[in-house]
Formats: sequence, structure tokens, C-alpha cells
Amino acid sequence: MLTMKDFEEKINDLVRPNIRALKPYSSARDEFKTAVADAAAAERIFLDANENSLGSPVDTDYSRYPDPQQRVLKSRISQQKGIVTERIFLGNGSDEAIDLLLRAFCEPGQDNIVLMPPTYGMYAVQANIHGAEIREAPLRPDFSPDAAAVKSVADARSKLLFVCSPNNPTGQCMPDAFVLDMLENFPGLVVVDEAYIDFARRPSWVGRLQEFPRLVVLQTLSKAWGLAALRVGMAFAHPQVIGTLNKIKYPYNIGAASLEIAEGALSQQSDVQAKTEILLAERTRLEAALPGLPCIRQVFPSDANFLLVRVTDADAMYRFLTDRNIVLRNRNRELHCDNCLRITVGRPEENDRLLATLQQFPAAENNTP
Ligand code: PMP
Repeated sequence: MLTMKDFEEKINDLVRPNIRALKPYSSARDEFKTAVADAAAAERIFLDANENSLGSPVDTDYSRYPDPQQRVLKSRISQQKGIVTERIFLGNGSDEAIDLLLRAFCEPGQDNIVLMPPTYGMYAVQANIHGAEIREAPLRPDFSPDAAAVKSVADARSKLLFVCSPNNPTGQCMPDAFVLDMLENFPGLVVVDEAYIDFARRPSWVGRLQEFPRLVVLQTLSKAWGLAALRVGMAFAHPQVIGTLNKIKYPYNIGAASLEIAEGALSQQSDVQAKTEILLAERTRLEAALPGLPCIRQVFPSDANFLLVRVTDADAMYRFLTDRNIVLRNRNRELHCDNCLRITVGRPEENDRLLATLQQFPAAENNTP
């Protein structure tokens, strides 16, 4: 039986040797924390980071570098989610965490990652940037995961499996039994990307981090939290995985303005909850209304703030809507997604206009010479 210590040693084995051996950059602000952290604020003079001591040309003073370890925001997230800060990484969007996972764990030209297309495009882009081989274990045509396919492509050099749940662009959560199977049998880290979890009916995997040292959970403030422009994403994992990500991130990867706004926003949970309820009600309304339109063939069930729909002619409908200033995401060229469009659930009036415009689609098409 493997002990927690055995698992921890195995995590270290997964890290690229050069990253394991890396001595990270120590920023001016990292060093001052240990040196003069206890001195009274007024007593401190900062001549360590080559900033502008006369201040910024705007009302708020942004002349000082932000906290590289983002202690305040991390402690708020820690309280809210009941996770110790040693298990929290904060990035410039969860896209940064995806990037850093590839950099930390995948030796270019040697290691591979396993993807289950159709899924979020950045996993493959980052793998290509970092020279990691992509092995595919496609979802089935009904978008359910295929555990046997993952096992058949994975080997000892498979460092990361990306499980997007709810999956973008298909909308469904991956079944617990599948994720558990992967946590027990996949040789590398199992990265459960929960960007859309706040819209789902199932609990987050963050509650189970203690049980599974190779589980990494990604979340973001960009979706239900309505803060996409701030660029704040989170990775939750074993402290060794988090330590590795922190070791290789840019020292000041999240700006002070984003940190401050995010810190304040976290206390607005009831506002976020109320907006989520509205979006879920709108999702239900669209789910009910769309199948009644002649141009819609299928509406896939969704646990996210978008719906994947199969239509009569996705490219034509995409152009038709764009001409009328309504922009959707055309997924027609993704695996198993022929003639599929992805619709983000909008404000009630935006959804009304979408439905009304779609109502005109077949008529307008027939009229085209
Ligand atoms: N994961 C998934 C599944 C996404 O759809 C997105 C954004 N579309 C991201 C991660 C990245 O989000 P962000 O960088 O804004 O946190």
C-alpha cells in the first residue's frame, strides 16, 4: 500500500529535472519580507526594487511592485474554500496555470499529455508551445469520456491529463467514476479544469484534494465571478505541485489593481450567487425555447453558462447572426461537433434578441438568391 510519503516522492519524480534543480529568482520584495517585515510601515524606506519613489501619474499609487506571493487574496480564498494557502496558486488567468503545468512537468520532445477532444483549445496550444506530445483519447459522440481510450494512450511519460469539467465546448461535467478511475490509474497529474463549476450541479473536486496527491483543480474568477478582465485564475493542488508552479512563475504575475479588486469582490458572494441564479434560469429558458426553432436540431445538456447546439447549417447561421451583430462561437470543425455552435447564456434581453433573430433564420436563408 502506497503511503502519502511515497506519493509525494512520486510527485517530485514527475517534475522536469531542470525545474527540480532550479534555483528560483528571488525578487526584491521576496527578500524584504523576511528582512524588515516587522518594522513599522512609516519606518521603512524601500530602495530595493528600482521603483519610482515619487509615485504614479494617476490618483492611486501603483509605483510599488505587488506582493509576489499574493498573501491577502490567497488568505481570502483559503477562508472561503477551506483550503490551506500552501495548496493555492494564483495566476494571470487559469491560462497561466495551464502554461506553467506544461513547463514544469513536460520535458520537451520526451513527455506527453493526454487530451479528450473536443475540449478547451489552450491545452493543445500550450503543449505545442512547450514541445510536449499530445495524445488524444476522444470523447464518445455523446461527449462522455472514454476511460479505456485514456489508458490505452497513456504511458510512463504521460505527465498531465486534462479533464475539463464542465467541458468546454460540450457543457457537461465528467462523471465522478471516470475522474476517480483516472486518479487511481493515470500515471501523471490529473488536472480537473473547473472554470465553469459554479454553474454545475455537482460539487467541486477541491474538497477531495487531501485524498488525491496527483489531483490538480483549476478555477477562475473569469466566469461566474464576472471578472474576466482582471485575469485572476487559481490552481489548487498538493503543496509540492503548488510550490513547483510558484517556483517558475513570473515574480509579479498578478498586478496590484487586479489583486485589490479581486480581494474586494470575494466578499460579494451573494451578488455572484444572484447573478448565477439568473444565468441558470436563462439557460433553462434557452434550453426550452431553442428546440422549438426550425433551425435547431439538438441542444446538448449543460452544466455551464453556455449551450452547445446542433443546427441545420452552422457556418450559414454563424454568418447570418454575425451580420445581425450577434456573435456566437462556431464549433463546426471540432470533433463530433459538426454543425454545432456554442452559445454563451446572455442577459435576458440579449437571449430574447437571439431567439427572435434565430426565428428568422430559415426564412432569410430561403430568400437568399
Ligand atoms: N479553462 C476553460 C475550460 C476555459 O473555457 C477558459 C476560458 N475560456 C479558461 C480555462 C481560461 O480562463 P482564464 O484564463 O480567464 O481564467
